[in-house]
Amino acid sequence: DVDTMRIDTAPAKDQKDKIDVLKAWKESTEKQVVNFVVVGHVDAGKSTLMGRLLYDTGAVAERTLQKFRKESEQIGKGSFALAWVMDSTDEERERGVTIDIATSHFSTPKTHFTILDAPGHADFIPNMIAGASQADFAVLVIDSSPNAFEAGFHRQGQTKEHTLLLRSLGVKKLVVAVNKLDVTNWSQDRYLEILQQVEQFTLNAGYRRENITFVPLAGLSGINVIHPLGPDAAALTAWYSGPTLLEALETATSTGEADRAVDKPLRLILTDVFRGSIQNPVSVSGRIDSGHLQAGDEILCIPSKQLATIKSLSINETPAQWAVAGHNVVLNLANIDPIHLRVGDVVCDKNWPLEPKERLTMKLLAFETLLPMSVDVHKGRLHAPGEVKVLLETVEKGTGVVSKIRPRVVKAGELARVGVMVQVEHGVPIETGDKVVLRSRGVTVAAGVVE
Ligand code: GDP
Repeated sequence: DVDTMRIDTAPAKDQKDKIDVLKAWKESTEKQVVNFVVVGHVDAGKSTLMGRLLYDTGAVAERTLQKFRKESEQIGKGSFALAWVMDSTDEERERGVTIDIATSHFSTPKTHFTILDAPGHADFIPNMIAGASQADFAVLVIDSSPNAFEAGFHRQGQTKEHTLLLRSLGVKKLVVAVNKLDVTNWSQDRYLEILQQVEQFTLNAGYRRENITFVPLAGLSGINVIHPLGPDAAALTAWYSGPTLLEALETATSTGEADRAVDKPLRLILTDVFRGSIQNPVSVSGRIDSGHLQAGDEILCIPSKQLATIKSLSINETPAQWAVAGHNVVLNLANIDPIHLRVGDVVCDKNWPLEPKERLTMKLLAFETLLPMSVDVHKGRLHAPGEVKVLLETVEKGTGVVSKIRPRVVKAGELARVGVMVQVEHGVPIETGDKVVLRSRGVTVAAGVVE
């Protein structure tokens, strides 16, 4: 009997006690909340650059960095200190949750940033998918040193796969950090060479030029990361007067899209379920993908279809009354037994419940040759076995005109509509508008949107 197992009760709020969250949100002068994902080839300098951002914005204490400097010098790898800063604020790895996206936070007077760190190794793509599905934009880190760019971009590198995947997952804005330019003595020719190649590739991948910003920098020394260029950067100021990385991040911050997501029905995928204190025995965390919520709301958990009451909540560890799409929240729940809650479940509006679909029509970009075949269907950090059932049609890029009905194969690089079956008993709640990635034997075969 579920009722006797309830371990805490709290009354749902009367309608009249409710806050008009949309109004409160529009009137609030709070900092904007932004999530971005960091991608790039292994050794491109992602950890070092993010460590530099955290350190220079004051998110990490001087003392912490000194400690890492000492430790890394002891093992003869002094340059690793900044990368360790990134790992030290890495809550997920510290808590020992399964391999997953790591998050760290830093703030400017205008914006509260969350970094979603996606490891660059080929077998970590599922984590990158998870990160990208929560990101407002992406930072692509490129190693500009001789041959390194070429290795990461052309040969076995993951740079291109990441960039394509991000676009398929709905990420529209890119900040391209052209890193380690110190190694080239701040060569403008090298910068332009990389810019042109990356630009051409990203435009072909469907990004718009006005949504891509290139920033020449060096994460290790911190040149052009957050501080305006000084005399130490004379070799760069000789030809560059554009934004620092931090300025580019603030510009990339999109508000228009977050606006619309707030008006939609509540959807929040649980990234953690934990037993809290005696006062708050059941807590869950995640990022609100769409909609809004407030303390006192009754919410519906899918797939268990159990109702729960939000007793209280916090945003980035600060207590709050309400939260909207884009916020990373912890919800303290009442009137539910935690056996009904699992990582990957969806918390939704009880009046607009999510109805997981079994048969999907997807519009997707093929990364590899696509045939009727078994696939793993990924959405965010969730995945379930599925099958490409029918190839419906191929579609011309740009115009959207149908070019072939019932093709026998969809070739790599083609856009197509396909019918996909997904085994919903595995609990992956997919609905219209979701960004989905299809993988097979560890390879990404296609990515697109559920129609
Ligand atoms: P990740 O694998 O992308 O996270 O790369 P890391 O941050 O671990 O850096 C890889 C290597 O590049 C390390 O040895 C860093 O010290 C070095 N590195 C990172 N940034 C710079 C930079 O701006 N200039 C130079 N010269 N080396 C860098």
